[in-house]
Amino acid sequence: MITINENYLKLNASYLFSEIAKRVASFQKSNPSKEIIKFGIGDVTRALPKVCIEAFHKATDEMASEASFHGYGDEQGYAFLREKIAQWDYQAHGADISADEVFVSDGAKCDTGNFQELFSQTLSIALPDPVYPVYVDTNVMAGRTGEFTQGRYGGLTYLECNRDNGFVPKVPETKVDCVYLCFPNNPTGAVITRDQLTQWVDYARRNKALLLYDAAYVAFIRDPKLPLSIFEIPGARDVAVEFRSYSKTAGFTGTRCAYTVIPKSCIAYDAKGNGHALHKLWHRRHTTKFNGVCYMVQRAAEAIYSEEGQRQVTETIDYYLRNANLIRKELSALGFSCTGGENAPYVWVDAQTDSWKFFDMLLEKAGVVCTPGAGFGKCGEGFVRMSAFNSYENVRKGLERLGKALQR
Ligand code: PLP
Repeated sequence: MITINENYLKLNASYLFSEIAKRVASFQKSNPSKEIIKFGIGDVTRALPKVCIEAFHKATDEMASEASFHGYGDEQGYAFLREKIAQWDYQAHGADISADEVFVSDGAKCDTGNFQELFSQTLSIALPDPVYPVYVDTNVMAGRTGEFTQGRYGGLTYLECNRDNGFVPKVPETKVDCVYLCFPNNPTGAVITRDQLTQWVDYARRNKALLLYDAAYVAFIRDPKLPLSIFEIPGARDVAVEFRSYSKTAGFTGTRCAYTVIPKSCIAYDAKGNGHALHKLWHRRHTTKFNGVCYMVQRAAEAIYSEEGQRQVTETIDYYLRNANLIRKELSALGFSCTGGENAPYVWVDAQTDSWKFFDMLLEKAGVVCTPGAGFGKCGEGFVRMSAFNSYENVRKGLERLGKALQR
């Protein structure tokens, strides 16, 4: 008899975005002429930068001739991309990372989800609440949690993020082995300061813990005082892994390219307390289960590492940041307390009521879709996430409708 991994049965009933899609579809069915404006799912709307398209075409043409054709490449990515990443994204910002510490992949979702495979079953894990659901669900699937009761899985340490701590989790008093952090944050749009990140690195060093640092939204950081990478913090090389993605940086959500940085000095331990380089373990995992990102896609990603490439990427991110600023400004003017939207594409809004109720009300009254904060964890209850990934015109129109619907 074929039997299942019963941990899947523990998973909280409905994945957030499918529930939203269900409610939107049902609304659209009963209101077929109503135009819906989405501030919901975090997918980008602007086209790929021109430099990427040009590189894509050129690389595609290379595939047409045997002399320049590319078959299987190194699973970890082509040297041309890994070297640019190390130089432009790390060394240029004072972070000591070399090209062979970079693993190119097809997404930060896969990498943040798969990375836990390297760890023991008994690992103690801390994650922020609210949180990007992938970190939680993949640990549930792997059997590292208890049942889901009262909005939380047994066995996990939830780091509460709320207005009191500015949505940046405090270092726990207790000892945990692995901590997921994400800055700029999805869903709250909060950012972490150098001092706060240093406290986390110090905590990890004291406790022989590991920090899994998701920087998928790093391109939105505009405040020069904020750290771009955890590897700008002294000592982080021994206790942190960083995930980045071209999805939001360069509009690659449908093109698929990301990377994970694992310094060679980053160690995890076996049951006897002997240290093992995570780089070596992930290398083994990556080369066994993954066959590399398509050559053309890697060439397209490489194209952002030029003066013109950076200019084009910055222009697109600035466009979204203008949307985010407008969302924050208008909602604040309506009397809602907001976080994020300054160095992040997300604005986290205190809905002052149940978050699904607020979601339904906005959909019914304004034809506007937001993301209910409750879908990101218990501490997200009472909040909604508004995303800046839309056209400026739609954002303005949506906010106007929202203003009318919410006038009190
Ligand atoms: N990490 C966070 C925090 C995200 O919000 C997302 C996407 O929304 C991802 C990772 C996924 O990135 P990718 O498109 O590279 O899989």
